This record gives sequence, structure tokens and C-alpha cells, in this order.
Amino acid sequence: MVRGEKPRIAYWLDNSLYLNITNKCSNACWFCVRNFKQGVGGFNLKLEREPTAAEVKAELEAALALRRWGEVVFCGFGESTARLDVLLEVARWIRERCGGLVPIRVDTNGHGYVLNKGREVAEELRGAGVSSVSVSLNGHDEASYAENCRPEFSGGFAAVLEFVKKAKTAGLQVEVSAVRMPEVNMEKVRAVAESLDVPLRVRDYIPCFW
Ligand code: SF4
Repeated sequence: MVRGEKPRIAYWLDNSLYLNITNKCSNACWFCVRNFKQGVGGFNLKLEREPTAAEVKAELEAALALRRWGEVVFCGFGESTARLDVLLEVARWIRERCGGLVPIRVDTNGHGYVLNKGREVAEELRGAGVSSVSVSLNGHDEASYAENCRPEFSGGFAAVLEFVKKAKTAGLQVEVSAVRMPEVNMEKVRAVAESLDVPLRVRDYIPCFW
């Protein structure tokens, strides 16, 4: 069931306010909740079109007025760095609107540098007020990553590792996340996370996201 008919940009779960700024993604993970559901938490996340930054801010403003949120997270039915300029503009707006008191996180597939060639993605995120990133890593090498995530370009696994390293260098808090399922060799993914010196968050395979 989804709450109402209207697709949502801003939605929430518990104490976190989420932003669904795009339905575009450079992966086509076989397990993606988008394949099976219209939304999460009772919210419809299937956008009819890609929203402008002004539209994101308008819906965000209304959600911010509801209560004091513990964090704002860019995470929805797509890859937020596919719309980097909208992400950055909205992050800067949140920082100003909330006086820097509400942490901003980006949940990402880690393809930011492939999707934004020539840009300093992690530095720009940090500069806009993003404090942490959670990077999805559902494979331990190119073959297993390609099988699970089916990226639209080759070298998807290497792209994720590059993103993690640059995010750390930029001073972002970084974790990688993986879904607990037979197709993911968690011990090998854990070894990759350890080699990158970042924590691994293991998520149960439930109809949720990242
Ligand atoms: S990276 Fe995330 S949004 Fe994209 S297909 Fe995979 S699970 Fe879905």
C-alpha cells in the first residue's frame, strides 16, 4: 500500500527525513525494491518526472515544518548523484535553513564520478554540507558486482571503490552497506570494506532500500 496517489519527493521513516530527488539509476540491481513496489513506508516514490531543485525545496520545507528531524537523507528510487547539481543546491539550502544542526547523508551506489566526469563529487558534497555517505556495495569483485547490480557501464565495482576512497579523503564519514542474501558473499565484501578501512553495514533483505 502507498499513502495517497501523489508521488513523493520528501518522505520519512522514524526520525529520518528522506529525499527522493530522482528515479534515474546507473544500476539495475535484480533485487531493487523498485522492481517490486511502488514505494516504501507507505509513500509512493515513483516520480512522474524528475523534480527541479525548487520543487524539492518546496516539499522539503513542508516536511521540515512537521517536526525536528534527526537527519536528512538523500535516498529514494534512484541514484541521487545522477542529479548532482540539484543535490548540491538542496544540501546547501538545508544547511542554511537548519543552521547546520541537522546532519545530511547521501545513500549512493558509488557511481558519482562516472556520472559526473570531471567533477570533484566528494569534495563538492562536503562543501555543500553533506556529512556522511553510505555506499552500496553488493559484490566483492567486478564479476559478482556486475551479476548483482548490472551497472550500465563496465568497471562498476572499481568505480565504487574509487568513490569510497575519494569520499574518505574529502573528509566525509563513509560506510559501505550490503544486503544479506545468498548472492552476496558477505565475508568477501567485509574484507573489501576492511581493505578500504571503512565500516560495513549489513542490511537484511527486506522490501526497503539501500
Ligand atoms: S543502486 Fe539502488 S536504486 Fe539503483 S537499482 Fe540498485 S538498489 Fe535500485
